[in-house]
Amino acid sequence: MEHFDYIIAGGGCAGRSLAVRLLPYLQATNKRALLVDYAEKKSNDRTWCFWEQDPDVFEPAVYRKWKQLSFASKFLDRELDIQPYQYKMIRGLDFYAHTDQLLANQPQLIHLQGKVERQYTEKDQACVVIDGKTFSSDYVFSSIPQVQEKKPDRYQYFLQHFEGWVIETEGNTFDPESATLMDFNTSQQAGTSFVYVLPLSANRALVEYTIFSKQELAPEDYSAALQQYIREQLKCEQYTIIEHEHGVIPMTDHPIKRQQERIIYLGTAGGFTKGSTGYTFRFIQKNTAAIVQQLMKSGHPNIPAISSPRFELYDATLLHLLDSERISGEEIFSRMFKKNSAMKILKFLDNESSLLEELQIFSTLQKTEFAMALWNRTLKLIRSN
Ligand SMILES: Cc1cc2nc3c(=O)[nH]c(=O)nc-3n(C[C@H](O)[C@H](O)[C@H](O)COP(=O)(O)OP(=O)(O)OC[C@H]3O[C@@H](n4cnc5c(N)ncnc54)[C@H](O)[C@@H]3O)c2cc1C
Repeated sequence: MEHFDYIIAGGGCAGRSLAVRLLPYLQATNKRALLVDYAEKKSNDRTWCFWEQDPDVFEPAVYRKWKQLSFASKFLDRELDIQPYQYKMIRGLDFYAHTDQLLANQPQLIHLQGKVERQYTEKDQACVVIDGKTFSSDYVFSSIPQVQEKKPDRYQYFLQHFEGWVIETEGNTFDPESATLMDFNTSQQAGTSFVYVLPLSANRALVEYTIFSKQELAPEDYSAALQQYIREQLKCEQYTIIEHEHGVIPMTDHPIKRQQERIIYLGTAGGFTKGSTGYTFRFIQKNTAAIVQQLMKSGHPNIPAISSPRFELYDATLLHLLDSERISGEEIFSRMFKKNSAMKILKFLDNESSLLEELQIFSTLQKTEFAMALWNRTLKLIRSN
């Protein structure tokens, strides 16, 4: 059985982020890792957006970035000054090509295309079966989705589902310096719904219709909402659709196992998708950077949680409030952006705010409704015990 020091099972965002960060450590210690994914990763299967203050290792793959964002709803219309953050976009295809290039011809890192059929710990080793062949390692880092039985009597299971079009317009329709983070001027009937608009040039933008709800829509409903938004809000009649993106991201407060003996879960499989927003990219970067830092310091990859557990409580409370339908997501986000600086909100959504900053934000929100959601969630947990 071939042995590697580490096996990285799943070579999407999290697997590749870890592999790139791990490379200098492998070179310094003369250790070997195997990165495996069944997909070739040659298509633009997703676009990642995130905000950050300082450039990170994937800065060369950033396709566009904006210093100015805007928020719109029937309650609020606001330009958001997000300094010291920048809002960035990385296209999947560019990320895969960039990481392929960084990882190519590295004797310390073997990149294999194959299907992971099983992962398990045996004695002091973590093993992976790939297309019928077993490989062993000291640790497996896995971003392959875990199958978890749902417990709807305890937890919320929302989906963030979206359809995005890159459109090209005939005239100059967009301001390339400013992106729309959330525009709630779209029907709220199917759930909390908004559109974001990321201009790629004056006549090209990614326009994405996003919903937080428990069910996906029929394909024609996403198209109808996008057509209506482009016509009524962007005032644009003539355009060409250049690319499509469709995605579903889980939004849940169901706790996810981050480690099973010598298998350490990464990415969405490791619970690094924020329950209340679906944002994952920055959490993956923080997590994989912390793992490599720990390896360098102590030789083992076991790290403490990258965020305080209180953020999980906040995320769960928001999901319960959305579920109760006592107030709409549009009202909640409008109030939040009306009463707080964008910088403070982005820090909070990154799970990096202080308790004092959080209390300041909560004092501006719909306190009674949030308190009731917290109470309902607590009752739900007690009753289902
Ligand atoms: C369309 C879309 C857009 C998104 N946009 C954003 C965004 O803008 N910002 C943000 O923060 N988050 C976003 N997310 C959420 C999240 O960042 C992404 O899903 C991200 O790719 C998660 O990284 P991951 O490594 O956990 O999963 P993935 O990137 O999906 O990687 C998992 C890998 O495992 C491989 N795999 C699965 N099973 C096997 C197997 N049995 N054997 C071998 N390989 C296997 C898959 O081929 C895949 O490459 C988006 C998600 C989607 C779906």
